[in-house]
Amino acid sequence: MPDELAARVCVFCRRQPVDDAWRPFCSERCKLQDLARWADGKYRVAGEPRDQHEPEDGDPAEGD
Ligand SMILES: [Zn+2]
Repeated sequence: MPDELAARVCVFCRRQPVDDAWRPFCSERCKLQDLARWADGKYRVAGEPRDQHEPEDGDPAEGD
């Protein structure tokens, strides 16, 4: 099995082929979800007293 193929699938879902527009993801959905995941992990790992600054921007990626 050539590694090239594995490298061309979305790094988030690892199922869909990467879309050039959203590399290294297959879609904007996966990109946003990956970023959200990292952000969430950061907050937990860092645990810094950053006030109660909740991201009120909203996350429109939730609605299907
Ligand atoms: Zn994906």
